[in-house]
Amino acid sequence: MNWLGHVLLGLFLYAVLCYVNYLHPFFSLAWLDYLVLGVITVLFSLLPDIDQLSSKISRLLHKVVLVLIIFFAVFQELVMVIVFAGILLWTHFLKHRGFAHSLVFCLLVSGLLAYFAGLVYGLVAFLSFSSHVFLGDL
Ligand SMILES: [Zn+2]
Repeated sequence: MNWLGHVLLGLFLYAVLCYVNYLHPFFSLAWLDYLVLGVITVLFSLLPDIDQLSSKISRLLHKVVLVLIIFFAVFQELVMVIVFAGILLWTHFLKHRGFAHSLVFCLLVSGLLAYFAGLVYGLVAFLSFSSHVFLGDL
């Protein structure tokens, strides 16, 4: 499946989740939450393909990480420069449909998002990522 198919599949599942939450409100969400969750859906439905350097998400990630490296270098935060440079380097050694397409990586990144942003963000990230791995790459 190409990147657009992964995004559309993720957005379809997100729409279903929004509808279920409308019928049986599990989470109280403001319109801004829905917007941010939509962006998370798009990003996490593409995230497994960071193991392909030519993919849209990989090119976006490289640009964002380079900006962050420059930002932290300007403010002389050496540890953060090393962390982000490590992330950048790490993506070059990933095998396609290897660790980046695994349940472990899915749980790791969505768990981090749930920890820092909240349960609903982690849940949407998990579903979006899972849609790519378990439905999109069949
Ligand atoms: Zn993939």
